[in-house]
Amino acid sequence: MKIAMIGTGYVGLVSGVCFSDFGHDVICVDKLPEKIAQLERGEVPIYEPGLDAVMERNVAAGRLSFTTDLAAAVDGADAVFIAVGTPTRRGDGHADLTYVMAAAEDIAEALTGYAVVVTKSTVPVGTNRKVEAVIRAANPEAQFDVASNPEFLREGAAIDDFMKPDRVVVGVESERAKAVMGDIYRPLFLREFPVVYTDLESAEMIKYAANAFLATKISFINEIAALCERVGADVKSVAKGIGLDGRIGNKFLHAGPGYGGSCFPKDTSALARIGQEHGVPQRITETVIEVNEAIKRRMIDKLLDLCGGSVNGKTIAVMGVTFKPETDDMRDAPSLTIVPALVGGGANVRVCDPQGLREGKTLLPGVTWVDDAYEAATDADIVVILTEWNEFRALDLARLAGGMAAPVMADLRNVYDRDSVLAAGFTQYVGVGR
Ligand code: NAD
Repeated sequence: MKIAMIGTGYVGLVSGVCFSDFGHDVICVDKLPEKIAQLERGEVPIYEPGLDAVMERNVAAGRLSFTTDLAAAVDGADAVFIAVGTPTRRGDGHADLTYVMAAAEDIAEALTGYAVVVTKSTVPVGTNRKVEAVIRAANPEAQFDVASNPEFLREGAAIDDFMKPDRVVVGVESERAKAVMGDIYRPLFLREFPVVYTDLESAEMIKYAANAFLATKISFINEIAALCERVGADVKSVAKGIGLDGRIGNKFLHAGPGYGGSCFPKDTSALARIGQEHGVPQRITETVIEVNEAIKRRMIDKLLDLCGGSVNGKTIAVMGVTFKPETDDMRDAPSLTIVPALVGGGANVRVCDPQGLREGKTLLPGVTWVDDAYEAATDADIVVILTEWNEFRALDLARLAGGMAAPVMADLRNVYDRDSVLAAGFTQYVGVGR
């Protein structure tokens, strides 16, 4: 199959690279010339483990290329995927569909033969029909069908998630388009990964419902964690005890500083707005959003308490600022709420993150970036574990404590246990929900 991938970000690039690895001919399009130039030089513009090797072998095999020329990529394509951003629209919490609709218009003008226009971006229910209407209006002669194919990959494990998905969801209404989608995903059918064929609206809804459910699990355990602290329970044991129940499952039950990232915050917000618009408020999702904001503020209070009520003049070493490990993505990371509160409170904040600097240097003004965890902690009053990168999971705690002015640890990811932290020379340890 010939595939054009419009939008070469976290999802578009991974999807394009993986489709080419399936054996398809893929052209990845982006409107940012510097991104395309980087890709043409063989450089991956994002940090995603394993992506560079798969990209390199498919470029070498002649199956994968990059361009800013959308029309050239769409010409002759069997499928045109839209994988552009759908951020939260300023002011009202809705998904901003500007990029999707602009891409649809460009695609309309570029369509030559029959193609399936597939929306991979996360979009509100009804968007695929709008995409269809936009293309139809711009190019009444165009031969095409639309399909909804939401993406479920996780940054940091994106290649594996794409190649070995829990499921593929395809919303499609014509047999011809279904056949094209079947050919594209054939390597996954052959390995018996489940494919859910459904209508457009259900496919769009599945993506929002999935993310809202996962966000609910996180907010649920975070709220339980706050109660655990009051009643003397340990949320890690509680999560284990409930997670072993097959109906609940043990994933997404790690208490922490609240969810962030490029998906949960914007998708829960969009779902809440969709519900309000249709007169069916999604009260659980609305509460999940409120709880998540409260959790981030609770983390700030925790740090203030540890510093005796004020962080003014304190030196705080923050380990990890990306929204999770194994990604450089900072979008809506809890660090973007917590770190500015510390800086605003007069703290001297040192940040250490293996991949956070590129985005973080503009998003977190007023902090000092330090490459090494031990250097960041030298003479610090408190060390805060904010993102559980592997290198922060196995720190030499005695060495860390030995260099600090006041060895105090706030472990907002529950990476360590209190006894070993205290045994290593720390005078105080706080986790979340313990
Ligand atoms: P991103 O911001 O990383 O990438 C979007 C890219 O699209 C950018 O490079 C931008 O320059 C490009 N673009 C925008 N308009 C364009 C146009 N008209 N023509 C060509 N290129 C254009 O976004 P992302 O994180 O890859 O997310 C894309 C979509 O996938 C979103 O709807 C998101 O919700 C969804 N999604 C993301 C993830 C994730 O983990 N990031 C997971 C599942 C689904």
